[in-house]
Amino acid sequence: MQSHAEVLNFLENNPPPPSCHHRLPVISIAPQSLASLAASLSSSSSQPVSLSQVLRRVSVFCRDVLGFAHVYDTTFARHISLLEHAKEFAERKSGNGKLPMLASACPGWVCYAEKTHGEMLPFISQTKSPQQVMGTLVKEWLGAKWGKTPDQIYHVTVMPCYDKKLEASRQDFYNEAYATRDVDCVITTGELQLLMQDKGWDLSIPVPDENVPRLPPLELAPAGDAADPDAFPELLMHPGTSSGSYLQSLISTIVSSAPDPGTLELTTKTVRSADYEEFTLTHRETGQVVFRGAKCYGFRNLQNVVRKVGRDAGVQVGRGAAGRLAGVRGKVVRKGAAQEDKGYDYVEVMACPSGCVNGGGQLRPVQAEKQLADAEGFSRDWQESGVSLGAEESLPAAPISAKWGDREWTKKVEAAYWRTLPTPPPTPPADGKPSGSVSPFEYADEYAGRVLREMTKAAPVEGKVEWTTKLDDAAESRRQRLFRTQYRAVESEVVGLAVKW
Ligand code: SF4
Repeated sequence: MQSHAEVLNFLENNPPPPSCHHRLPVISIAPQSLASLAASLSSSSSQPVSLSQVLRRVSVFCRDVLGFAHVYDTTFARHISLLEHAKEFAERKSGNGKLPMLASACPGWVCYAEKTHGEMLPFISQTKSPQQVMGTLVKEWLGAKWGKTPDQIYHVTVMPCYDKKLEASRQDFYNEAYATRDVDCVITTGELQLLMQDKGWDLSIPVPDENVPRLPPLELAPAGDAADPDAFPELLMHPGTSSGSYLQSLISTIVSSAPDPGTLELTTKTVRSADYEEFTLTHRETGQVVFRGAKCYGFRNLQNVVRKVGRDAGVQVGRGAAGRLAGVRGKVVRKGAAQEDKGYDYVEVMACPSGCVNGGGQLRPVQAEKQLADAEGFSRDWQESGVSLGAEESLPAAPISAKWGDREWTKKVEAAYWRTLPTPPPTPPADGKPSGSVSPFEYADEYAGRVLREMTKAAPVEGKVEWTTKLDDAAESRRQRLFRTQYRAVESEVVGLAVKW
């Protein structure tokens, strides 16, 4: 289940369109997966390959070879996740929910908390991850545009880790009415590569027009201009971290909504390594700490954060790896504690060291084998021995299994993730006047407002709908169902064994 073999099996057995049993195949690819493929291609090429070029080549493969009807990246879904996430943080800040808010996009972390630290669940953001927002967009928003019900679409995602398969199979993401999941099958980056190998597709070969910007979505193009009815805002590389920029986007929202943004100063502090850093927003004149957040990646750091959150919030920490502090109750505040002791407001938690670019489903480095065995089985570097191999004699690069978490390789994937994109497509403003200077994020905000209004069937409001717009009660309740989820503590067998009779 949930493998590249399942995808092939589905596609081979999917009856063609006139059949009432045909399901429209759609595939959505995470930007970290594109970065992994780009790093792999760039390491064996003199020209670096951009995410946009990889997306074009993968799109042609998925459409022309596999038969997918639509191919997307998941960054617009992430944009919506970030908007909803900021809204949820504001709600908690105003007293409706617990702080600090902890990121929820990493199923490795969420599953760990559900099994080991049930006391952390009220702190975990209820906003759906980009994968699951994409599931909602494909099955409900795009599906409605295509005249399809959710069960008439087969949605595959390509993700950097295996834990995303668990996330997609959660009960909350199962549509009872149509007996279908928002994401039907998750494959890893490595499994996508296997699919390409199976079909003999060479991703290093450019495809026609791979550097030509895509057309804007129909809804945002001025009347009469070329547009793509199925387009989404594409490759939105949110500044911050390659694991989703949750913390950075929250900081940007807080600064931009402050009465006088110029009075706020952001400082950063490395706690242990680049995987555990603190970010503090301080009022320049009063010295008051307005916001304190942290980025915390990898299980070891995560355990420290669980302890800190438990201590600051006065919550008894469960008997997991952080169990040594079990029994601590009530917040202990030192007399005269300085502003810098203020607890966190938010933590961007990710289970993998270095975050999603280093997920367990990503590609491993590919290097040419230098030591080739001779006829007697002895290793020899022929070129170093002065033997010149002709083009047809030189052996293709062979994968060397590098251990997971190879730092040099992770840095290359990170660099590929941030590599400069081609100029974003000119994005006309909603009033139809050409400007060419609308940022891709303004364009995505505009589009997200339309998605929100139409998906929630909101009653008309004055002015245009933005993500922060307060909608009527029925629409707000639909927003909750569409873009939020919930968590449950899982009874651990280990804890059961510890019970004294
Ligand atoms: S941090 Fe690792 S486990 Fe978590 S979502 Fe990213 S790749 Fe998956």
